[in-house]
Amino acid sequence: MTKTPHHNDLRGAPIAARLIAEVKEATSELKMAGWNAKLMSITIGDVTAVDLYVRNQRRRAAEAGIEFQEQHYPETITQIEIESALRALNADPRVTGIIIQRPLPKHISLKRLQATINPMKDVEGMHPASIGNIVYNELDLAPCTAAAAVELLKSTGLELKGLEVVIVGHSEIVGKPIAFLLMSEGATVTVCHHMTRSLAAHARRADALFVAVGKPKLIDAQMVKPGAAIIDIGINSVIGPDGKEMIVGDVDYESVQKEASWITPVPGGVGPVTVAILLKNTVTALRRQRALYEEAFGTNDHQIVKKS
Ligand code: NAP
Repeated sequence: MTKTPHHNDLRGAPIAARLIAEVKEATSELKMAGWNAKLMSITIGDVTAVDLYVRNQRRRAAEAGIEFQEQHYPETITQIEIESALRALNADPRVTGIIIQRPLPKHISLKRLQATINPMKDVEGMHPASIGNIVYNELDLAPCTAAAAVELLKSTGLELKGLEVVIVGHSEIVGKPIAFLLMSEGATVTVCHHMTRSLAAHARRADALFVAVGKPKLIDAQMVKPGAAIIDIGINSVIGPDGKEMIVGDVDYESVQKEASWITPVPGGVGPVTVAILLKNTVTALRRQRALYEEAFGTNDHQIVKKS
């Protein structure tokens, strides 16, 4: 079952297309200078669970002029073994960015893997150093979903300085980084979670409402300020009225779209922009690697190292 599009839909596709075109321009320039962007995607265990995401990332990477390669490891791999594989990729100058596909088997710690990736190759923006940099207002290598959600808000043209923003959900990769990214832009940010006393009272004050919880219909029309911008990050699989499985967000789209000035559809809102931000981060990481290299060795002889 597909949703009826509305005039106030904040669709991700045009924003993603603009970002990917910018990345393509950047990768062409970098290639001419001898610097090739190459993403390495790591999947552990059941590949079919992430197949659709990976195929999409591969396709978009090709559009953006970024090489994309995959490594698959069996479900039985140990934490130590996968960390060694990541260290080998850290040491390979041809690999300029590393992505860890989720979900992971239960015995593998995602946090430890994220911390093992060299921050210079952390295109997902999830190494503790990348997260820490956001607190210091260095915003250009932020977690992809958080940066995508903020990019969608920026596309509305709303003045962020002094904007009343409410974020529902405070996870490390979504809610918290969105809060820091928007504080840096001068917004007034409130963060809600499962212990928040009156979610509705907070949500109703928001000029911009971000929802990243994982609960269908958590936000209804009564909880939204008329004219607000609604950024729905949730991804939930539910059974639709026709008995078929469908993907919905955390916001009751049909009722809330009548109140909101902008609303991201799910699917088709945050998702496409998230992939584009991953590619943008890949260029940022490669530029940093180039700058570090040139600082150490000058500008003329990097081809020797890159080809070895
Ligand atoms: P998560 O780690 O499970 O975090 C969920 C957050 O929601 C927690 O901070 C939790 O707070 C809060 N929460 C739970 N129940 C609540 C309630 N009743 N009221 C208010 N807050 C509540 O999830 P996540 O990784 O941030 O992902 C959130 C959603 O975004 C999921 O649906 C996920 O699939 C989706 N997602 C989408 C993308 C994308 O590209 N579009 C990417 C990543 C994730 P407490 O810790 O206090 O319980």
